Amino acid sequence: MRNWESYVRKVVPYVPGEQPNEQGMIKLNTNENPYPPSPEVARILQSSDADRLRLYPDPNCGMLVDAIADYYGKSSSEVFVGVGSDDVLAMIFLTFFCSGKPIFFPDITYSFYDVWADMLRIPYETKALDEHFLIRSEDYLGENGGIVFPNPNAPTGILMGLAEIESIVAKNRDVVVVVDEAYIDFGGESALPLTEKYDNLLVVQTFSKSRSMAGMRLGYAMGNAKLIGYLNDVKYSFNSYTMSRLALELGTAAIKDQEYFDQTRQKIMETREWTKERLRELGFSFGDSKSNFIFATHERIPAEEIFEALRKKKIYVRHFSKERIRDYLRISIGTKEEMETLIEFLRGYLL
Ligand code: PMP
Repeated sequence: MRNWESYVRKVVPYVPGEQPNEQGMIKLNTNENPYPPSPEVARILQSSDADRLRLYPDPNCGMLVDAIADYYGKSSSEVFVGVGSDDVLAMIFLTFFCSGKPIFFPDITYSFYDVWADMLRIPYETKALDEHFLIRSEDYLGENGGIVFPNPNAPTGILMGLAEIESIVAKNRDVVVVVDEAYIDFGGESALPLTEKYDNLLVVQTFSKSRSMAGMRLGYAMGNAKLIGYLNDVKYSFNSYTMSRLALELGTAAIKDQEYFDQTRQKIMETREWTKERLRELGFSFGDSKSNFIFATHERIPAEEIFEALRKKKIYVRHFSKERIRDYLRISIGTKEEMETLIEFLRGYLL
C-alpha cells in the first residue's frame, strides 16, 4: 500500500435503496410519495428564470426558514434547513455528538445513523427493540453522548407516544436528543411542542415524504434557538450555500399549500389501511404502521423469495439482509391502483 493510503478517512458508506427507472415499474422501495408535489411547485418551476442562476442563493435561506417557522408558529431562529434531512442529521451528528461518550440509538432503525457515527468517529451503543419491535424508553438512561431515533421508527413504521418521548428527553438533560420525524405526517403526533419545554430536544423533518419532494432535497430541524445557532455555525463552516435558489423557492411554495398536503397524506393513510387489511388476509403480519410504509413478514414464504418474485414483475419493495429483520419486507404505500396491482400479484403468488 502506498503511504498516502494510510491517511485516508476510510468509511463503509450507506447504501441507499436502488433507484430503478423502468417503464411500467411500481416503485415501493424508498418510501417516496406517489403523488406529485403541490401544483404551486409546478407553476413556479415552469415560470422560473434561468438567468437568476448566475447569482448565489441566500445563505440564510430566509424565505424558506420563515415559511417553515410560520407554518409551525415558531420563530425563524428556531428553524434550520438543509439538503434533505440526511444533511440536517449529518450536521447534527457533527455539531452535538462531540463528548466522546457513546450515543444511543435502536438496533433496528434508520441505517444511516451508524454510518455517520463511524465516519465522524462518534462511539455508539445500539439498544435492542423489544420482541414487538417497540423502542424501550427505559434503555435510554445512563451516561451517553446523545440520543437519536426516528418516530415513527424506520423500517418498522411503529410510533412512540409523546409521554414516552418526553421521559427520554427529561432524563437526558445534559445531552441533545434528536427525534427524526421523517414519517410523522402520516398519523403521528410531533414532539415539536416539547421543544418549548426542553432546550436539549431537536425535531427533524423532511419534504421528501409527505410533501412529495424527495428529488429536491429539503429537510429541516426545529428546536431551541441556541441549538439552531450552533447548528448554523457548523453549517457555515462547512458549506454556506447549501440550498439552491430553486430549492428555497419550491420548498416555500410547498409548505404554504396546506390544503394539498392534507389531501395527499390523507389519501396515503387511507390506502395504507386498505393495504393492511389485504395483506392480513394474505397471511402477512406487521406492527401498526403510522408511516407511509408497512413492514411485513409472511407466515410461510421467506421475505427474500417474495421480494425476488415481485422484482420479476417490476414491483420494487425493500428487503434488508440484517439478521433480525431478514424475514420482513418494507413496502411503501403507492397509489391505490399500484397497491391493487401489488395485492393482486401476491394473491396469485401466495394462495
Ligand atoms: N430519516 C429517516 C428515518 C428516513 O427513512 C429517511 C429517508 N431515507 C431520512 C431520514 C432522510 O430523508 P431525506 O434526506 O430525503 O430527507
